[in-house]
Amino acid sequence: MNISYYLHKKELNRDDLVFLLGRTEPEELDQLYCAAREMKKEWVGNVDYYRGLLEFSNRCIKNCCYCGIRRGNRQVGRFDTPKEDILAMALWCYEQQYGSITLQSGERQDEAFIDYVEDLLREIKSIGNGALGITLCVGEQTKETYQRWYDAGAHRYLLRIESSNPKLYKTLHPQDGHHKWEVRKACLDALAAIGYQVGTGVMIGLPGQTLEDLADDILFYRNQNIAMIGMGPYVVHHNTPLGKKVSEAGLDSPEERARRLRLSINMVAVTRLFLKDVNIAATTAMQTLHPLGREMALKAGANILMPLVTLPQFRNQYQLYDNKPCLEDGQEQCRNCLSARVASVGDTVGWGQWGDSPHFFNNL
Ligand code: SAM
Ligand code: SF4
Repeated sequence: MNISYYLHKKELNRDDLVFLLGRTEPEELDQLYCAAREMKKEWVGNVDYYRGLLEFSNRCIKNCCYCGIRRGNRQVGRFDTPKEDILAMALWCYEQQYGSITLQSGERQDEAFIDYVEDLLREIKSIGNGALGITLCVGEQTKETYQRWYDAGAHRYLLRIESSNPKLYKTLHPQDGHHKWEVRKACLDALAAIGYQVGTGVMIGLPGQTLEDLADDILFYRNQNIAMIGMGPYVVHHNTPLGKKVSEAGLDSPEERARRLRLSINMVAVTRLFLKDVNIAATTAMQTLHPLGREMALKAGANILMPLVTLPQFRNQYQLYDNKPCLEDGQEQCRNCLSARVASVGDTVGWGQWGDSPHFFNNL
């Protein structure tokens, strides 16, 4: 069977997803990405939406084995962005017509943090009378906390499942009782029950991850009725247990990184073909592995971009992985650079619009 058979099939099954994810030949990849781009045009349009990404604190109670700001990394200085600076950046996003903002940080579950985020949400919501859409990405919390933040104005929440395979998830996290796949999955359920537009995603190219795992990740998105997907390649951070293991095993060669990028773009394309009306982000990690990584994702079906609005003085301290791009760029540069990237693939920017996932409303 050649690839066009699969691209014209009405319903793709798990084996079909595995087949498509595993394509490597340039001609087949062209056909796959072209079909996904057509699907994007049909279901979400060739309009890409911005979420200004504000990484406001790197304090974290977790110790995920892959992450550069894990609690155990003593080489990284911890920071909290002053509230007035966060509000100034939110106002800037509003003035720049970004439409939405994403607040991201390490995970904390103490009352002071919960109150702080709640106040912040109310203040951001007052800008332009609720003009900015707000996505939160601050980890696992209780259902009560999620509810308080929803009531304060957040309407989207991004919590990556990291891998839909609980066994693989286990290999990526310490077994200390605080890093449980079941808890993360229950958080996704709680968020959906409250009424959030729920986003999740996985890291791609993890050691031990198979094409079947990735196909199951896409089926997991469908089964959880996920509205937004934020996924990208796993990228090594030198001072993490996983990063050291991968480097020592010789698994961070240029060929290996190219493989992880190709798999990531394939995941974008196959997810678009399978789920059709969801929002899919062209994530920064893709650009880390290739200067045009985000353009490749847009061309293969992604429709969301997250220009960095983290304060330049804190960017060095929010390095989840090595060689994160845009560390030196001011927010103005990020804005202009991304607009040029969108134009280069023939898309337009949905200035001033929230750009909610059509899937969320199609399913109400
Ligand atoms: N702390 C929150 C959480 O974990 O959900 C939100 C922030 S966390 C930094 C956001 C995402 O960064 C994680 O879900 C993970 O997928 C990603 N990440 C962390 N380390 C990474 C790495 N080395 N390569 C690629 N992605 C990574
Ligand atoms: Fe903390 Fe999130 Fe990094 Fe895990 S991935 S260590 S929860 S910031």
